[in-house]
Amino acid sequence: TIASGMERLRADFPILDIKVGDKPLVYLDNAASSQMPQAVIDRLVHYQKTQHANIHRAVHHLSDLATQEYEAARRKLQHFIGAREEREVIFTSGTTDSINLVMHGYGRKFIQNGDEIILTALEHHSNIVPWQMLAEEKGARIRVVPINDAGELLVDEYEKLFNSRTRFVGLSHVSNALGSINPIKRMIATAHQHGVPVLIDGAQAAPHMKIDVQDLDCDFYAFSAHKMCGPTGVGILYGKAHLLESMQPFKGGGDMIASVSFEKTTYNDIPYKFEAGTPPIAAVIGFGAAIDYLEQIGLDAIAAYEHELLVYASEQIRMIPGVRIVGDCPDKVAVISFVVDGIHPHDVGTLLNQDGIAVRTGHHCAQPIMQRFNVAATSRASFSFYNTKEEIEVLVAGIRSVQKVFAQ
Ligand code: PMP
Repeated sequence: TIASGMERLRADFPILDIKVGDKPLVYLDNAASSQMPQAVIDRLVHYQKTQHANIHRAVHHLSDLATQEYEAARRKLQHFIGAREEREVIFTSGTTDSINLVMHGYGRKFIQNGDEIILTALEHHSNIVPWQMLAEEKGARIRVVPINDAGELLVDEYEKLFNSRTRFVGLSHVSNALGSINPIKRMIATAHQHGVPVLIDGAQAAPHMKIDVQDLDCDFYAFSAHKMCGPTGVGILYGKAHLLESMQPFKGGGDMIASVSFEKTTYNDIPYKFEAGTPPIAAVIGFGAAIDYLEQIGLDAIAAYEHELLVYASEQIRMIPGVRIVGDCPDKVAVISFVVDGIHPHDVGTLLNQDGIAVRTGHHCAQPIMQRFNVAATSRASFSFYNTKEEIEVLVAGIRSVQKVFAQ
């Protein structure tokens, strides 16, 4: 199990050994970016040393090798999410880029004046702002699914939002600010009853649970490598082939064309139609190595172990007087957003850092959630499978000592 093999597992992550001043690092900012195991770092170095060349465009040995490795990573991602075909996996620069691709490629083509887009109160800014830009351009309207005090979507209210003008649903699988897991399968089915396609922002789900896009029946699914043991600068957009084919390209340039003349340009097939220019080849190959690493541990084992961490950390934090967990619902990934009475989260984060503890403080790119809970900001501890109960104890002791500093 993960718990019994923890020492060896942590040894896979060289960065976990660093010190912050004289304190061992306690890294609890995994929802922002997780750390890379040696296997991924080695894969990146191996590529740079022995395989680096531009892909898809040459007959020479290195280009061929790089192309094969790049396309092998695409197949890894395909299997990781259970996509029917590899051409349904598009490499992007990350979740934000994936969502913008759908906005430009699908939204600008199919959403018109007076149409409606449903989003939820739990979205990250990257699944709000592109749709607002589109709404402004087209004269479309955004409708928002509300949440309750525990941070759960009100699914009944969601169902009431559909009408004959509803054209699109954008929905996060897991909230980055609170950790709540949304009942997306059921919500996707509802949208489909109304003939409406659904984009799932899976940035906070894909690192923590098994994703099966065919079972979910989502139309689009987006996530980023850097939150799941991979490098920055890469992510994917999954899309159903027939939808991707119906869409217009987002970026124009090399590789995304079939033929170009000044009179008329025709576009390449999917996925290449959406991969203009030289992609982050090294990062894509590193992403593939991260997928191998995660699969070797097992997503079900990861989910079970992280749930234990969540339960333990929630119990411990609830016991501290003057500390409140924001969005304390049962169905969560291991993310805990909390406020400490009378102490600004920025001060909490700064003092915890002096103990070597990395948490995130602020609005977490989800200002509407902060408004919903009437707080300007929270502190957020987000866990990975390489975190331990001992680290939770360090966090809890850290929060108590922050309170002592402010009590003086
Ligand atoms: N959506 C969610 C739910 C996220 O947590 C994040 C990252 N904080 C993003 C989208 C954006 O991801 P990226 O910055 O990798 O594009």
